[in-house]
Order: sequence, then C-alpha cells, then structure tokens
Amino acid sequence: MGLLSVIVPCYNEEENIPLFYREMIGNQEFFRERDIELELFFIDDGSTDNTVREVKRLREQDGRVHLISFSRNFGKEAAMFAGLEHSEGDYVVVMDVDMQDPPSLLPEMFSHMGEGYDSVATRRVNRKGEPPVRSFFARLFYRLMKRISKTEIVDGARDYRLMSRQMVDAILSMKEYNRFTKGIFGWVGFRTKWLEYENVERAKGETKWNFWKLFLYSLDGIVAFSTVPLMLASIMGVFFCIVAFLMILFIIVRKLIFGDPVSGWPSLVCIILMTSGVQFFCTGILGQYLAKTYMEVKRRPIYLVKETF
Ligand code: UDP
Ligand code: MG
Repeated sequence: MGLLSVIVPCYNEEENIPLFYREMIGNQEFFRERDIELELFFIDDGSTDNTVREVKRLREQDGRVHLISFSRNFGKEAAMFAGLEHSEGDYVVVMDVDMQDPPSLLPEMFSHMGEGYDSVATRRVNRKGEPPVRSFFARLFYRLMKRISKTEIVDGARDYRLMSRQMVDAILSMKEYNRFTKGIFGWVGFRTKWLEYENVERAKGETKWNFWKLFLYSLDGIVAFSTVPLMLASIMGVFFCIVAFLMILFIIVRKLIFGDPVSGWPSLVCIILMTSGVQFFCTGILGQYLAKTYMEVKRRPIYLVKETF
C-alpha cells in the first residue's frame, strides 16, 4: 500500500476546481489497481473568489480532499512549499489546477517511477497560445541561465512533477525564503525522467502572470542560482581600469608632443556618462543580491496559514 499526495496551488480558481477534481478522480482506477491511495491538497493562496467554498464542497463528498488556506496571497512558490510540507505521501506530485498540467498524464508519469527514477518531470515542447514576445524572452532567459548557472534549469520545464519521498525531503531541507522551484528541482539532483507534451491552454480564467511579474521572477531565478552577475561587476571594473590607464598614457604622450590645446569636451562628457552608467549598473547588481540577502536574513515565514482541513 502506498500513498500519492497531489499538491494543487490555487489562486482565484473557483471555476477550475471542479473540472480538475473530475479529471483527477478519473485516474483513481489506475491507482487502485496498483494499491496506491490518493490524497489531494488544494492550497488556497489567498483567493478572493469562491475557491475555498469549492474545495469545502469537494471535501464534503470526499475525505481525501484537504485544504490549506493562506492568510493572503503569498505566490505559487509558497503554495507549493506549503503543500510539500503538509504532504505525507510516498510519492508527491505538484500540478496546476487550470488543466495546463493534464491530470491524464499522471498514470504514465507514475509508470516511469517504477523504472528506478526518483522523479518524473514534464516539459512543453512548444509555447502555442503564448504571446511571441513572452516566448522570446523566456527562451532568452533559459539560454542565459545555461551560461551563468551550474544548476540545470530546463527550457519549457513545467512545475508538474512527480517525486519520491526522498526527493521531497531534499527539497524541504532547502529552507530559503526566495524560492525558485525550477532551480531547486535541478539543484537537489536525483534521477529525473523527462516527459514532453504539447502546450495546453488554460481551461477557465486568466493567467496570474503578466510580463512584468515574469520579468521579476526571472531576476529572482538569476539571483538565486548564479553569482556570475557579481563577477560581471568586477570584470567591468578591471576593464575600465585598463582603459583609463591607456587613456592616461595617451594624454601624457599627446601633451608632450603637441603641447596642450584645450579641447576634447565632448569626449570627456561621453566618458563620464559611460563610466557613471556602468557604476550605477554594477551598484544595481550588488543591490539585487543585497536585497535578497536582506530578505533571507529576516527569516520571515514563507507562508502563513489561516485555515486547514
Ligand atoms: N497560483 C498561485 N498563486 C499565485 C499565482 C498562481 O497559487 O499567486 C497558481 C494558479 O492558481 C495555478 C498555478 O499557480 O494553479 C499556475 O498559475 P497560472 O496558470 O496563472 O500560470 P501560467 O500557467 O500562466 O504560468
Ligand atoms: Mg496556467
């Protein structure tokens, strides 16, 4: 007998919850045959609609349904973490409620766990239905991460992932406040099988991520899993010192040969603007890391629970 915990972050998803539940329960025959029990954790991430009421309604019919309701919106990362902390399953799967992580794929994922994998992850092979600008920047982000981070972060990887208890415990041992799960999954290692599928569009409602939020999230990812930008500041510093040194030599030699005609105001302005720009940029990089460190040392809780059942 085994237990499979299903973790579902929900933020204003009243319409999707019944749809999701129906699809999910469609798999129960498969799991029953393999002697696996299910438990469903809906994490209400401070929804302002009837998400909680929908989950409660399910709970009345089905004792395997659990709710963890946050005191406010803490973000999907926090919701996933709360789910992992509360889950007790030998296997744990994290998935979205909007059907973009198809529940019908779960049996296939589970089958691969028997082949000696610790985790079965999914990635989208295309980004159909997504604005082209967003896809472009997403690709750029993954390409950049590949270069500046030692942690493997796979392009198109979803958070839809089935894991063994051992891997979940490893993830839970990472208590960092600034959570970037795509990186954490890669960082803990373990043997992972990748399944690919075509992008599915959201069943009901709207995505919670606009371009700006995604941009900030990508910065979180960079700061959390690479220190290369900090090095960039030093490299630029060295580069500008060398340029400055050459310029000084040039000016001294020119003075000795041609005397000192007062000119070169435009070039001076350009140099000042350029170097101060670079300085601000580098200070900004430091600021980013400092800000993350500041949030980290405060040790605030990752989420606060208002209600559970
Ligand atoms: N979500 C959440 N908290 C948030 C934003 C989103 O728990 O602050 C949940 C949301 O309910 C959904 C999943 O995270 O189940 C993915 O969100 P969404 O579909 O908006 O993201 P996308 O699929 O567009 O990347
Ligand atoms: Mg979605």
